[in-house]
Amino acid sequence: MEKQELWKTVLGRVEQVLSRPSFVTWFRDTGINRVENGVVTVVVPTGFAKEWLQNKYHKTILHTLRELAPEIKDVQYFIGKLEGQKNELVSKKDIILRDKKFAFLPGTVEDTMTMKELMIDPETNLNPRYTFENFIVGSFNELAHAAAQAVLKNPGTSYNPLFIYGGVGLGKTHLIQAIGNSALKTNNGLKIRYMTSEKFMSEIVEALRNQEMGKLKERYRSVDLLIMDDIQFIAKTDKIQEEFFHTFNSLYEKNKQVIISSDRPPQAISAIEERLRSRFEGGMIADVGLPDFETRLLILKNKAGLKNNTIPEDILRFLAENIKNNIRELEGALNRIIMASKLTSSPLNVENVKKIIYNHQVSAKKFISVKKLVKSVADFYEIEEKDFINRSRKKDVVRPRQIAMYLMREELKYSYPSIGDRFGGRDHTTAIHSCEKIAQELKINPELEEEIRALKDKIYSV
Ligand code: ADP
Ligand code: MG
Repeated sequence: MEKQELWKTVLGRVEQVLSRPSFVTWFRDTGINRVENGVVTVVVPTGFAKEWLQNKYHKTILHTLRELAPEIKDVQYFIGKLEGQKNELVSKKDIILRDKKFAFLPGTVEDTMTMKELMIDPETNLNPRYTFENFIVGSFNELAHAAAQAVLKNPGTSYNPLFIYGGVGLGKTHLIQAIGNSALKTNNGLKIRYMTSEKFMSEIVEALRNQEMGKLKERYRSVDLLIMDDIQFIAKTDKIQEEFFHTFNSLYEKNKQVIISSDRPPQAISAIEERLRSRFEGGMIADVGLPDFETRLLILKNKAGLKNNTIPEDILRFLAENIKNNIRELEGALNRIIMASKLTSSPLNVENVKKIIYNHQVSAKKFISVKKLVKSVADFYEIEEKDFINRSRKKDVVRPRQIAMYLMREELKYSYPSIGDRFGGRDHTTAIHSCEKIAQELKINPELEEEIRALKDKIYSV
């Protein structure tokens, strides 16, 4: 395989676990210079970048390269200039083209600046890629789909608000944006606004700061269709929920349609006020469940078909059998396989697909042990594993301990009492407190987010 292609794939992978600014900072002007005797020579522009790549991303880089070319044994980093190669980070256009070409990482691509600039209309915030045409309906989502169609036919009437809930990666965002896109197609003049509740909150904070609340109110209250994604993140008591409530009421009274999504039903969102909850319950509530095997297979076939790709049926079946809970993961796995098939000359079979999938952190999740997790966290923060168990309250220990508990909860789904047990027989309330503390901080601290990402990378690396 070409060294440029190899490096491109590495970049694609690293991009998943990094914020855009860090990605650009550390990987700009990097590339593969040589591949010789199983050793890949990577050129980086500065000593700083060299250190980072070596210390933080070496494993990811090496793993990705090995997946693509198993004969690779090591990677070395040198400061220097790339000869005759254009690093795609240099040119935004190239990234856009590449994203379009591979359309990989469906879940994350839309978050990148480039994608937004490319396709998303800032007025509506709708991503045109989410349509009904490419939305597969099965028994798991047919109620939600039917409700969506009904809303399209008669907006602002009986199904108002429409409240869609279900687990992560099961098509809520796709479905509610498809309503917006479809409505826009039939009536170009319609004013539609899609928002996640998190973005909505930050817009309000911004508007308050700049004394532009009037403008913001006007903007939201004049729409014909408001789509609010992931309402579970809306803040509790402050101005924000108040503002949403008023916006909602104002639209509702004018018979304008409101569509809301959440990861849980209204009665289970503890942060929302009763009056808002009862408003939600006054409309139509539909859940999205888990797709069955046949539907998963159908989704895969459809996606492979859309990308003009003929992946053998047994491979699609293998994926559909093994990735059950999340359509985004299903799609991610398929994309990785499509990409691999483009990059290697050897034919795809279930065996090498297994490797591709299980080397990938998301799907490999279930295969890591608590032991590995705890050890990785200890290594990462350079402390002893026994420090997790003892009663030390030193900051250098307390925080890694909390992070380890958090990861045990999030990644391995351990119960709080068993987390407490594992960490030196601590009480379950300590475990709850630790997990919540980290979860809260994660919402506001991008550095911690990055740290956790790097940690997960480490945990899931072999
Ligand atoms: P959620 O918002 O529930 O977390 P998304 O709407 O983001 O999930 O869906 C995750 C990915 O799976 C998206 O790329 C989406 O296009 C795809 N997807 C989800 N449901 C379907 C479906 N029924 N048919 C086709 N693709 C789907
Ligand atoms: Mg979503």
